[in-house]
Amino acid sequence: MSSRKSGYSFKCIVKSCGELKIQKESVSFFSFPKDPARCKIWLEQCQLPADILSQKNIKLCGKHFEKNMFLNFLENRLKPDAIPTLFPDERDGCEVSHIKNIFEVII
Ligand SMILES: [Zn+2]
Repeated sequence: MSSRKSGYSFKCIVKSCGELKIQKESVSFFSFPKDPARCKIWLEQCQLPADILSQKNIKLCGKHFEKNMFLNFLENRLKPDAIPTLFPDERDGCEVSHIKNIFEVII
């Protein structure tokens, strides 16, 4: 029971993100959906292999969800059909810049 180092530090599963949660409340973290169909969509969006789910504490930070995917102002609750669509720059930035444009319009 006492062998756990810390119950409250996660790392975002998105490699290019690297958001850490260490006693900070600024970014919320979300587990993958239990529904296999939605879980598959999340994996595809994150470009992750399905077997990554065999790891424990797989979480995605709130930075990958548009504002309208959240149920509340605090952005710590997602809508039941929320899908992660925002990802930081990887090597090809064309899709990212497209997403940014949409994001600015929403704000
Ligand atoms: Zn993240």
